[in-house]
Formats: sequence, structure tokens, C-alpha cells
Amino acid sequence: MLKMIEWMHKQLEPNLRDMPEAIKRGIQEKYEEDTVLLTLKSDHIRHEGLKFTSSDNNTFYQSWLVLTDKRIIAARNSSTFKEFVSTPYAMLEPLSILFSFADGMLTFNEKNGKSYKVEFLKYADEYFEELDITLREMADRAQHKKCPHCGREIEQESNFCPGCGRDISL
Ligand SMILES: [Zn+2]
Repeated sequence: MLKMIEWMHKQLEPNLRDMPEAIKRGIQEKYEEDTVLLTLKSDHIRHEGLKFTSSDNNTFYQSWLVLTDKRIIAARNSSTFKEFVSTPYAMLEPLSILFSFADGMLTFNEKNGKSYKVEFLKYADEYFEELDITLREMADRAQHKKCPHCGREIEQESNFCPGCGRDISL
């Protein structure tokens, strides 16, 4: 019986990690500079907007969560690339990232107050740790920005390097 369940999981695996070609292509085209690190299909993703603007709240089923080296993306499971979350890691509130392995639930907030709740399928649990570690690492790294000219570590919000005084706004 256990063997049978394992076998079934194996059969399901490609559907959890391999996004439809159109979504892959859409991400490549829109974010040419990004490298995709991890993709995982979710059961649903709930997006909660700022308080008092409940019209901004939305739930998307069977969505794809994508971590690139620059941002976290959520794409609809669709025949074309339709994203509804695209947040650079520097915009995430690192302490808000919570992954409940037991429930397969990931929550995180943007610094502007928007919050997201991602519920994964139970049989995706073998990927939870990888997802958790990757997301935390990327969010953590993004909090520390370095001056491209002199290499000094600078505040995320500042536009000038306190070391060499050069403009480092994008
Ligand atoms: Zn500098």
C-alpha cells in the first residue's frame, strides 16, 4: 500500500514542478534577467490587500508559485502567463515569512502591508523545506544591499552610498 502511494506521488510529481510551457515562456520574456530557482504548484493562493480595501482581496486556485533570483511570482494556472503577484525580495517583510509544514501553508507580507497566504497540496510536502529555505535566503539577502561602486553595505532605502557618495538609485 505504501509502495502504491509512493508510486502515485511520483506520477504526480511533474505536475507540481513543471509549469506549462506558456507560463515558463511568459516569465522568461517578462523577466529576462531573472533565473528561476524554484517552482511549485499550489492548491490556492489568497491575496489580502491593505485593510479597508477588501475589493483587492482575491483567491487564485491551482496557481504556480515561482521563486527567481530576484522576486517571488505567483502565476495563474493558465494557457498564458498571467501573474498576480510579483514582488522583489527587497519588498518582502522578512520576519513575516512563515511556513507551516504541517498545514502546507506559507504566509508572507509585503512591506506595504499586503499579505499573501499560499496553501500547497499535501503531497507537495517533500518540497516545503527547499521552498522555505530558498525564500528566506533570498529575502534575507535582499535586505542587505551593497554599493556597486565600492562594495560597502548600505541601507535598503538609501539612494546614496555613505562610503563613496555615489548615486545608487536604480
Ligand atoms: Zn559606494
